[in-house]
Order: sequence, then C-alpha cells, then structure tokens
Amino acid sequence: MIIGGGLAGIAAATALVGHDFSVSLFEARNRLGGRAGSYHDRGSDEIIDNCQHVSMGCCTNLQKLCRCLGIESNFKTQTALRFISPGGSITQFSEGWLPAPLHLSGAFLRLPYITFSEKRLFAIAVRSLAKADEQQLRGQRFADWLREHHQTEMLIRRVWEVVLVSALSESLERIDAAYARKVFVDGFLTNREGWRVEIPDASLNDIYSKATESKLESLSVRVIQQSRLRALQVANGLISGAQFSDQTVVTADEFILAVPHHQVAKLLPEEFTSHPTVQSLEQIETAPITSVHLWLDRRITDVQHAVFVDNLSQWMFARSTTSKEQSDGIHRYQIVISASRNLAEMNNEEIVKAVVQELAEVWPDTVNAKIVHSRVITEKRAVFSVTPGVDELRPQQQSPISNLQFAGDWTQTGWPATMEGAVRSGYLAAENVLRKYGITERVLALDLKVSKLSRWLLGIR
Ligand SMILES: Cc1cc2nc3c(=O)[nH]c(=O)nc-3n(C[C@H](O)[C@H](O)[C@H](O)COP(=O)(O)OP(=O)(O)OC[C@H]3O[C@@H](n4cnc5c(N)ncnc54)[C@H](O)[C@@H]3O)c2cc1C
Repeated sequence: MIIGGGLAGIAAATALVGHDFSVSLFEARNRLGGRAGSYHDRGSDEIIDNCQHVSMGCCTNLQKLCRCLGIESNFKTQTALRFISPGGSITQFSEGWLPAPLHLSGAFLRLPYITFSEKRLFAIAVRSLAKADEQQLRGQRFADWLREHHQTEMLIRRVWEVVLVSALSESLERIDAAYARKVFVDGFLTNREGWRVEIPDASLNDIYSKATESKLESLSVRVIQQSRLRALQVANGLISGAQFSDQTVVTADEFILAVPHHQVAKLLPEEFTSHPTVQSLEQIETAPITSVHLWLDRRITDVQHAVFVDNLSQWMFARSTTSKEQSDGIHRYQIVISASRNLAEMNNEEIVKAVVQELAEVWPDTVNAKIVHSRVITEKRAVFSVTPGVDELRPQQQSPISNLQFAGDWTQTGWPATMEGAVRSGYLAAENVLRKYGITERVLALDLKVSKLSRWLLGIR
C-alpha cells in the first residue's frame, strides 16, 4: 500500500508492479501529482498548474519515470535560455561546442550585466566550490562561503542568486553550502546535458495526473483517489492497517508513506511519534514559492520563457500555444518567485502590480494589456529548506518500523526538494521493499557520466 500520489508515491508504484505484488496507491485529493499538480481556479473556471515545474538534464530518475509512464514527449529540452537583466535587456545564453565543464563558458563570458573582473572572480569561486570536500561544506551557510570567496554583492545578486534561488527555492543566507555545490556540480560542471532545462508543454494535470493515472492502471496499480489516510494502525510492532477518513480500514503487508514530512507524525501510531526520527521531521523547515498567473487580453511577447536577473520576478512562462488561447484570444502568463518570504507584506493586488511593471520594462505591449484575470498562489510550505544541517534531520526511507517505508522529497536522497528528489525517494523505498523479498534489482537510474575534462580539471568523480 502506497499512501500519497505525488511523484514519490507514483515512482514507488511503478517500481513495485511487475514483481508479483498487488500495489494500491491511495491519494487524498481527486488528482495525482501532489505538489507537481494543478488546481481548479474558480475565477477563470480553468485547471491551472500549482506552479510551472521545470527539471534539468541531470534529473535522470525523473526522466526514467516519465519514460515508464509514457509522458516523456510532453517535455521540451532547452539548449538556450533568455536572461533579462535589470533595465530590461534580453541576453541569449546557450551552450557552446566545448565539453563540460567549459560548454557554458562562452555564454557566461558574453553576459553584459557583470564585469570581466567579476566573471574572473566567479570562475575562481566555482572551481574551488567544485573541488571542495562536500562533507566539509556541509553545515556551512552558503552566504558566508561566498563572502569568504570574495564574491561581490553584484555577482551574488546577478549570478549566484539567479541559479541557486530557483534551483533550491531558498535564499543564500539559508542554503547549506553542500547543496549549492551539488547544483553546480550536477547541473553545470559534470556533463554537457546536466544544465538543459526541461519544460513541459502540457499542463501538470494532463501529465502527472490524467496520463499517469491511466498508465498506472494499465500497469495494474490500483489508484484510489479522494481517500485520505487518517492513521496507520500497529500490531506486534508492525503496521497492520490503514484507517481512512471514511473509517474504512485497509490491510497490507508493506506500506510506503509518501506524504509531505509535516504530515507524517500525525499519521503514525502514537507509540512511534516520540521516536528521534519522527521528532527530527518536526524540525525540518520549509520555504514558500509564489506563482502569479495572469490572463491578458493580448500577447505581450513571443518569448515562451525567460529568467529575470536581480528582479522580484524570477521566471516567466507563456502558455500561448494552448488551444484555449487560440479560441478565446486570452494570453496566459505565469511568473514564478521562489523563496518568496519578501512578498509576505504585500497583498495580491500589489504583487500583481509589481510583476506587471517588471514585464512592462521588458515587453512594452504589457502597458496596453488589460488584465482579464489574475491569480496569486503562494504555497507556504512549497519545499523543505536546505538549511545548514538539514541532512541530519532527513530520515532514510526505511522507517523505524520494518514494514513501513518513508518516501518523499524530504527523505535522504542527497537531492534538494525537487521532482528528481521525490522520484529517487520512491525508487529507494521500492528497492528496500524488493530487497526484503529477495529481489536485488537496482531501480535507481545512473547519474550522467562525468566528462573526462571535468574529472581532470575539477577532480569530479
Ligand atoms: C510551487 C512549487 C514549485 C515547485 N517547482 C519545482 C520545479 O520547478 N522543479 C522541481 O523539480 N520541483 C519543484 N517543486 C518541488 C516539487 O513539487 C516537489 O519536490 C515534489 O513534487 C514532491 O513530491 P512528493 O511526492 O515528495 O510530495 P507531494 O507532491 O507533496 O505528494 C504527497 C501526496 O500525498 C498526498 N497526501 C497527503 N496527506 C495524505 C493523506 N493523509 N492521505 C492520502 N494522501 C495524502 C498529497 O495530496 C500529495 O498528493 C515545486 C514545488 C512547489 C510547491
């Protein structure tokens, strides 16, 4: 029995079917996908994404899951990004022909909004970050590391923040230096493909709920939605059953609890809630992400997505290819702001106004556009924070109870709170179950290969 139909639960289900298990996936909502999912927006009467979800070439397990679910064609791989500098000018950033770790060096050298000496300082810092011992970085605040490595305020705001705040959804003051290293090593320095951003061209609801549900059912996974677990029951030190909100009790031999970390304690039998593993979960902090959805009466740009540098807005995504857009003439845009604590004192109207003003600086047509509808969604506990020391709080998938696995981006995967982390956790939980039944199959996909030059120049293994 798997409880929680986010990517962790879905991944675990796909790994367990085909091994003579009867697999059931229970989800509280009426959709799968969890945080990588959608909502019904009453104002527009449309299903809208909670927030656009992007991944990178280094997310090999998410790619494996998408292939298994037959949804891989819903993603477009980007080999170039557009950066919008303060003041509104647009710079194309694309990979060159050199192998990693030099494939982005040409594009980086051409960035107009930092000086040559800052580029030099940045290159020296990235090299020492890559060469640093991950264990020694662990527990250190990345903002302190940057100051120790003489990074200027401009460099921090215009380069380090742009990469890390979107990748880790956390401010540099609160990021563990080991996670900052991971982003650069896995995403930018190991393999040419690592940095390539994958953007879905369909709604998250179509991909991770509708298509996924029908594929899971064709794989013989029983998917039960609108079924909220109330409590796991215990007998003889093992989980014996799950009681749902409608009072039904379902039994199983093995359980995977794939719900967000802050919901785990209240679902466990009382005698386990004081266990140090469960107590640690309560100390994991979270970070908010805000997405601003705009429905405009005109197209403001042909650009499909762009990254803002040193602005309130961080990413802009356009949805101008949907059939709905073509029929009603309304153009849909989404602006994402990660680690959005600074928005807490603004109301939604002020947030929309600030974002629209930034869009207008880049795309003047925005000034004439009528906002037909807007929706601001702030997910307060969007992701767990990769604060210094967080790894000591993240549990293994094997829980203290032998027939209960934990899964979810918050468990020990080495990855930050991402879809890749969630899928890895589901695969690791499934591997534990398989091993108990004598199946030693490796479920986890291999990481991208380290380029020879990265080994030689940076010592990456
Ligand atoms: C706004 C936002 C933007 C993000 N952007 C990105 C991005 O661009 N790229 C990226 O890689 N990651 C992104 N993430 C992170 C990513 O969404 C998560 O890391 C990942 O989806 C977590 O998956 P999960 O399965 O671990 O948890 P969840 O997705 O939270 O799944 C848990 C599931 O359990 C269900 N559940 C909870 N309680 C119960 C219960 N009692 N009974 C039954 N079911 C229950 C929930 O309804 C949910 O479906 C973003 C997250 C947010 C919130």
